Amino acid sequence: MGAYQDFHQRSIRHRDAFWSEQAALVDWHRPFTEVCDFSRPPFARWFRGGETNLCHNAIDRHLASRGDQKALIYISTETGQEKTYTFRELYKEVNRAAGMLATLGVGKGDRVLIYMPMIAEAVFAMLACARVGAIHSVVFGGFASASLAARIDDAKPALMITADAGMRGGRAIPYKPLVDEALRLARHPPRNVIVVNRGIDKEYRPLAGRDLDYATLRRAHAEINTPVTWLESSDPSYILYTSGTTGRPKGVQRDTGGYAVALAASMQHIYCGNAGETMFTTSDIGWVVGHSYIVYGPLIAGMTTILYEGLPIRPDAGIWWKIVADNQVSVMFSSPTAARVLKKQDPKYLAQYDLSSLRHLFLAGEPLDEPTHRWIADALHKPVIDHYWQTETGWPILSAVLGVEKTPIKFGTPSFPVYGYDLQILRESDAAEAAADEKGVVAIVPPLPPGCMTTVWGDDERFVNTYFTSFRTRQVYSTFDWGIRDKDGYHFILGRTDDVINVAGHRLGTREIEEAVQSHPNIAEVAVVGVADPIKGQMPIAFAVVKDAAAIATPELARAQEKGVMDAVDKQLGAIGRPSHVHFVTLLPKTRSGKLLRRSIQALAEGRDPGDLTTIEDPAALDQIKRALAGDFLP
Ligand code: AMP
Repeated sequence: MGAYQDFHQRSIRHRDAFWSEQAALVDWHRPFTEVCDFSRPPFARWFRGGETNLCHNAIDRHLASRGDQKALIYISTETGQEKTYTFRELYKEVNRAAGMLATLGVGKGDRVLIYMPMIAEAVFAMLACARVGAIHSVVFGGFASASLAARIDDAKPALMITADAGMRGGRAIPYKPLVDEALRLARHPPRNVIVVNRGIDKEYRPLAGRDLDYATLRRAHAEINTPVTWLESSDPSYILYTSGTTGRPKGVQRDTGGYAVALAASMQHIYCGNAGETMFTTSDIGWVVGHSYIVYGPLIAGMTTILYEGLPIRPDAGIWWKIVADNQVSVMFSSPTAARVLKKQDPKYLAQYDLSSLRHLFLAGEPLDEPTHRWIADALHKPVIDHYWQTETGWPILSAVLGVEKTPIKFGTPSFPVYGYDLQILRESDAAEAAADEKGVVAIVPPLPPGCMTTVWGDDERFVNTYFTSFRTRQVYSTFDWGIRDKDGYHFILGRTDDVINVAGHRLGTREIEEAVQSHPNIAEVAVVGVADPIKGQMPIAFAVVKDAAAIATPELARAQEKGVMDAVDKQLGAIGRPSHVHFVTLLPKTRSGKLLRRSIQALAEGRDPGDLTTIEDPAALDQIKRALAGDFLP
């Protein structure tokens, strides 16, 4: 048996011994008394009785050995700013931010909603929450006010932290007006909003009595030391909202001790990152990858982490490689979409920089097609590792685990189940394990390993019902992805089993986009589907029925209406959910019981066979879809 297989089997068969060893990678204020409490399946409590703190593990414990080492390098090609913080300096900034929280009465168990661009203060804010035991909920800056308000009402934060504006491609993107609007819409607005005023939005005006200036508070807390609040291992560290089949996003709740251990172990076994080295993850702090591998993972491992605000092709397509060369990056983590964007650029940019420090490039978040995988591996002359995971798990489910064994990389596959995951490919019909090369649902036999979501925020029942009831006969966690395992044990992900689409690695529920489309006053009904896109993997397109057909009576009017619908989505959900096209029809394909036939619509949009249509209510609806796609249908 190979070394990795052995390692994996041990993690399942001798689960407690295995994780007890991994737990030694982090500091415990009080040792745990039980490795895994699985007395109430499918809920798992890892490292029960143990007390620890994520901020302590990310910063304080490194001060003695690497206080003067760089901890955080902030690079913005949007503002031209670059700033470096050593562990000691990061410690100071986080203590100041934690002091502000404490002064405002924010402590253990309180929620803090962070809605910020990629600036160092966002990292300080996250770590400060962890320090005082507050639960952060970072919302991606691309979400609009209605989405933000829904998250505010679910998390009921005691405080929000934001900035006047972000920047993208040289253009200012005001954040504060969206926050103001969200707070107007929310039923549970927080008392205060701390605003980092970057001086980008000249229109920015604080609201007296509610908005507080970060810089002023920082000065007032300049010399403060805020002691760490020790948390029981299962105490929540953060909530991160993610989309599913319903229009209502779920708050993925993460624990403290299990997460610390999972990240520390992954930095060693999967990412092969060593203390003193540098990691560059190109995600955003609003996504799970940003939480785990911009902020917590590298810092817990004593590595320097890079926070990059900017685009991959600005000022030119060499910028990431320049960052790698300038900072001697050894571990890099990015997305398949980014790789596809770079593939279209002049190859000279890759050849221009000395990338000898780089050991591996990791890609995740969406399917990595084989040609792109091959291209980037050849262009970099480095191992490129496709790995598969979800917001729910917080760290990889499928990956090559090169820190344990240098298994060969096969293009187009994220390799093997990661240690700790008892992963099975199950037949949809009877929940039996699929044979090699047979398609099934990618499932995980509980307990989920440390670091994975512990519940849906405020809704244990929803956690169980959403994730553990796909099969009548077995309580297993469904990833909602189809997959196959080949005869050599390599796994392939074949797409979602549900109505979730993945745009450039960002998960969006079709229901959520449909609700945003319907916020337009002239839309009666809509179906949104994801269609294959050569760069972004998938793009949403919409088929809508209007209330007043006069609004789309001519091609010009229809185009204006389409634009109006797109604007409504931007406003309601955020530009990340904007459909690339809105086609107008008078009828949507549905079953006789009224269920939208999204799969058939999607198949037509991708030029495939629409499949079994015996249950369709009115076949004319599909004809309209076909004609709308061909551009010759106008209701
Ligand atoms: P998110 O939680 O937004 O990161 O989305 C997770 C989903 O993205 C998974 O359930 C998959 O559908 C998809 N995904 C993530 N990584 C990969 C990968 N390496 N290959 C294929 N699909 C992936």
